[in-house]
Amino acid sequence: MPLLDARQRPLRDLRISVTDRCNFRCTYCMPKELFGPDHAFLQRTELLSYEEITRLANLFVAHGVEKIRLTGGEPLVRRDLHTLIAQLREVPGLKDLTLTTNGSLLRAQARKLKEAGLQRITVSLDSLDDETFKRMNDVGVPVATVLDGIEAAREAGLGPIKVNAVVERGVNDAGMVDLARHFKGTGIILRFIEFMDVGTTNGWKLDRVVTLREMADRINAELPIEPAEPNYRGEVAKRWRYRDGSGEIGFISSISQPFCGDCTRARLSPEGELFTCLFAARGHDFRTRLRDGSTDAEIAAFLASVWHVRDDRYSEIRTAETNGSVPRVEMSHIGG
Ligand code: SF4
Repeated sequence: MPLLDARQRPLRDLRISVTDRCNFRCTYCMPKELFGPDHAFLQRTELLSYEEITRLANLFVAHGVEKIRLTGGEPLVRRDLHTLIAQLREVPGLKDLTLTTNGSLLRAQARKLKEAGLQRITVSLDSLDDETFKRMNDVGVPVATVLDGIEAAREAGLGPIKVNAVVERGVNDAGMVDLARHFKGTGIILRFIEFMDVGTTNGWKLDRVVTLREMADRINAELPIEPAEPNYRGEVAKRWRYRDGSGEIGFISSISQPFCGDCTRARLSPEGELFTCLFAARGHDFRTRLRDGSTDAEIAAFLASVWHVRDDRYSEIRTAETNGSVPRVEMSHIGG
């Protein structure tokens, strides 16, 4: 039976951040000024090993998790990630194993990830305009590198492939229709994400948010779309489809249309802290229990005690005040 939290939400999705490092410095996630050359990233011994991650995955799946998403930082910068994927593939009862990446390392790794058992993949690409994209990733990586990564994923047979674009007013919103036109009819599902006040370092302001309503209207004006039924309860993206039948497009609306009521997600940080909300201030330490001889039953009991009292709904209670005052974990630490 799945574990239920204080709002009767089952634990279904586990996002596992395998590293706090990234080869990009996206301004809305890991601004260069704060994550510079002197930033103290986690040392190897502080990270959960692949064996420790797999042990936890078995426990979480045994308590209702059906989907695991590997994230970071940038998960593909962690060495031999395909080894972890092969281990997770063996977890009995795991239905869905996916990964979110910035795509820059996919050409080199896509085939190995697929052969190890990865089913599908989500690639972040915020703009097709090279100058804008380079400004947003802040390390000068061109659009072509990510598009080639997406092609490598398709060639390797990873799919369905999804592409995520965080939309910030005055930064990349002018390129939304170009992105939609590029992926329309390709089978690749593009999702636009409202700029979120994740962490405390991205300088978030409400007036830089382009809401789902406005994004949909701007796309619809050029490429007619209509709302579509969700695939399942708790699906993060709101599904829309092109009226001409050429596929679907999605919107992730944490600011304007929060979806906490159906949130079934937990996030595990690279050093083994479990966060019950993307906007949580602190996590729950599983690493100590993995290394102090605790039994699986004891760790499972701890998991149940954490989830049962969970009542997070930050996006529903977000106000101008909450944004400024409440400390929150950085998205680069636990993945989106
Ligand atoms: S704000 Fe927290 S509780 Fe709400 S949907 Fe996001 S992660 Fe879930």
